[in-house]
Amino acid sequence: MRVLLVGGGGREHALALGLAGDPAVEALVAAPGNPGIAGVAQLREVTPTDPAAVAALAVEVAADLVVIGPEAPLVAGVADAVRAKGIAVFGPSAEAARLEGSKTFAKDVMTAAAVPTARAYTCEDAAAVARALDEFGAPYVVKDDGLAAGKGVVVTDDRAAAERHAAECGRVVIEEYLSGPEVSLFVVTDGEAAVPLLPAQDFKRVGDGDTGPNTGGMGAYAPLPWAPPNLVDDVMRDVVHPTLAELRRRGTPFAGLLYVGLAITPSGPRVIEFNARFGDPETQVVLALLETPLGGLLHAAATGTLGAHPPLRWRDGAAVTVVVAAEGYPAGPRTGDVITGADRAGIIHAGTRRDAEGTLRSAGGRVLCGTATGPDLAAARDAAYELVRDVELAGSHHRTDIAAAAVDGRITIPG
Ligand code: AMP
Repeated sequence: MRVLLVGGGGREHALALGLAGDPAVEALVAAPGNPGIAGVAQLREVTPTDPAAVAALAVEVAADLVVIGPEAPLVAGVADAVRAKGIAVFGPSAEAARLEGSKTFAKDVMTAAAVPTARAYTCEDAAAVARALDEFGAPYVVKDDGLAAGKGVVVTDDRAAAERHAAECGRVVIEEYLSGPEVSLFVVTDGEAAVPLLPAQDFKRVGDGDTGPNTGGMGAYAPLPWAPPNLVDDVMRDVVHPTLAELRRRGTPFAGLLYVGLAITPSGPRVIEFNARFGDPETQVVLALLETPLGGLLHAAATGTLGAHPPLRWRDGAAVTVVVAAEGYPAGPRTGDVITGADRAGIIHAGTRRDAEGTLRSAGGRVLCGTATGPDLAAARDAAYELVRDVELAGSHHRTDIAAAAVDGRITIPG
């Protein structure tokens, strides 16, 4: 199988490692890729959000499967353009990707499918914003209605800050605050059959103890020792299958990766958000534990044959990833700094590039992450931090408490 992987972040580096490790994958091309991905794939230049350019590249490299990593190409219709060339693609159509591209659309689907989620209003002016904030009270949850790379959400007790964010975004979704630990559940689907991966937890806030602004994610771990034993079955029954059925009913089946972001509240799991692609950095830990060959799994989803795919096999133990971010991230990351200590197994590249001399430099807010597995969560956590300790990047920062609460048994479901 010849595979073209679209994207160039940490998620795509993790996907590239998984695909390269599948004996059925005879050639892996990544576009545009990054210096980490270059170790396992041939890199090609492409604008990931240009449907015609990606489709042409897929034809040129004779891809049997195109895997689309990030959300922007999906929303731009890249999967549709590739499919139109008769090439199998892992990633939903632009219509189905609206599940991520529009919070209002996602709420509409959830309502129609009776999926448990926070009550919400879409607001377009200050008066509507004020009414919604009054109704739900603090903490206030204000979300940009469009794609915002995980950073368009403000959760705050500060009413003025909530109103400011709403004014800056224009059209927003304001919703009820959901309390309880968060879970990211990835589901591989061909539109009908659906296979859950291991639940993971990520860390959205920039600072230790979940302080500071939201980011794209500062670390992750899997599996979740504290999760209720029936969690995945319940979410498949109450969330995933009703959502997939509703999208089929609308004539826009969702094939690809359905990412279900949940809060485990006292009344059970509630959907915080859907994404239309693998999450970053949870992908790094989930795929580190997946033993089943990745290419075959994604190909089955892309070709409508997932129902015949054998059950997934998982490695024992746990995985942890710790993100190293550039100085100033998330507000205004500084780029162009030299990175050393990053050319090692377990270092996943996210925002890196090589300059003309071949020196590795930072090129984004989340620069790289140290990903490690271990016989248990504590061992994986220690190994991930050991990887990060050896990386040097001026001004960089990382959280020091990734997986700590789970290791210490401090995560409880309120009730
Ligand atoms: P989203 O982009 O919708 O995933 O939101 C980013 C983060 O904001 C989530 O991971 C949560 O930590 C937080 N968040 C979003 N919606 C809610 C909510 N209704 N209640 C509590 N926290 C939320």
